Amino acid sequence: MRLTSYQTPRLGVVLAGPREKCGVFGIYGKGLEAARLTFYGLWALQHRGQESSGIVSSDGSQLYRHTAPGLVATVYREEDFEQLVGDIAIGHNRYSTSGGTNIRYNQPFVDYENGFAFAHNGNLPIWDKLEKFLQSRGVSTAKLNDSGMMSAAIGQYMDDGLDLLEAVIKAYPLFEGAFSAVMMDKNRLIAFRDSRGIRPLSIGKLGHGYVIASETCAFDTIGAKFVRDVKPGELVVISKQGLTSHQVVKGQQKLDIFEFVYFARPDSILLAKRVNLVRQNFGRQMAKESLVRADVVVPVPDSSIPAAIGYSQASGIPFDAALIKNRYIHRTFIRPLAEMREQDVNMKLNPVIESLKGKRVVLVDDSIVRGTTMRQVVRMIREAGATEVHLMISSPPVRYPDFYGIDTPKQSDLIATRMSVEEIRDFMGADSLNYLSYQGMIAATELPEKVFSTSCFSGVYPINIGKRAREISKVT
Ligand code: AMP
Repeated sequence: MRLTSYQTPRLGVVLAGPREKCGVFGIYGKGLEAARLTFYGLWALQHRGQESSGIVSSDGSQLYRHTAPGLVATVYREEDFEQLVGDIAIGHNRYSTSGGTNIRYNQPFVDYENGFAFAHNGNLPIWDKLEKFLQSRGVSTAKLNDSGMMSAAIGQYMDDGLDLLEAVIKAYPLFEGAFSAVMMDKNRLIAFRDSRGIRPLSIGKLGHGYVIASETCAFDTIGAKFVRDVKPGELVVISKQGLTSHQVVKGQQKLDIFEFVYFARPDSILLAKRVNLVRQNFGRQMAKESLVRADVVVPVPDSSIPAAIGYSQASGIPFDAALIKNRYIHRTFIRPLAEMREQDVNMKLNPVIESLKGKRVVLVDDSIVRGTTMRQVVRMIREAGATEVHLMISSPPVRYPDFYGIDTPKQSDLIATRMSVEEIRDFMGADSLNYLSYQGMIAATELPEKVFSTSCFSGVYPINIGKRAREISKVT
């Protein structure tokens, strides 16, 4: 067995720390080079986490693990794949918003004693039940984060003599929050999702094998075919007997609508809708709601490109990719300090002066969270010679914090809770500021409102956030 510096979360070494939104992947299939395929899957899911990456594999006799900080392309070397053998593997890309790079946060976690690995996307806003359970078993929770506690609870039930599957089902009621998880032992791949399906999780097929991924774009990368989503409250087991499904609790779909707004890759399919097309609809809907006289529609790359295309098509105003993004600089949002973020915007974006000079510009972005990015971009567009800058934000104002894994900041950091739309326009230095309406956003998805969690826009949290509700005040 290849030992890393890692120790199991059961022993209490996973430090409490930043909440994470991440990408998970799992694969099972006789004859497949599981770890290498997981690598490609994780690469396709890079946008869901850039802090660290990890893979655990098994050849039926033991578990092998490799994780390191950094991007997928830099974390794995050929030698690593020589050791990550077997036809079953799970992988994880970690995202954290507050700069925690401690390798002890890296997933998948492995419980070597009980012989399983665990990787999680999501967040448990409350963990009282889970913590009480672990404490009652004499497990110190002081240094465990939510994912570590989940893994430790499953390990506890296995210590009682339960099989992995039974242990997960037994521990499931202790998990309160958003979770899309993949697990494995030496012979099985397991995936499960919270009762509301807040974070995505899909099933694909590759030859005779199965693949699980946070997003369907990972299937395309490895030539797998999308089969269906893991249902809210469902657990699936993939073994040599094929795929079996267990509905652990009754589910009710409430996908986080922010996946459509910003987070998911545009080529992924969520709730049977191609994200790219929904984002274009957001732009078309914006043109219906807020048409301005302008010469050019410019996206803030990359996430707002589909919405800008939709706005341009519906308004007839020409599209121009007049802001060029340095592709090798990654999401600025993950930098902890405001000064660093401002610096990052200049490093990341550069205007094409000829496309902007003397023009009335419609500038499209997918969201405003703290307001740092947009203010910088407006200044950049003006300095390039634009005569007017009209902001179109293809989502409603973000007024409430996220507790389910997209770690948007505390409520007081959200610019739309502190300022009116007019004040934000003034702060940004724009000629006008238009947000997509809430109803317009829902209509553009062509799905009923009830299938979504819209908490960051509406303040309605479909999974209990317990005492954390005290951190929120209603914005009118
Ligand atoms: P801000 O500068 O704080 O207003 O952040 C808004 C920008 O960050 C937008 O351009 C979005 O594309 C992007 N963004 C929004 N939400 C997130 C998130 N949870 N993580 C990373 N980036 C985000």
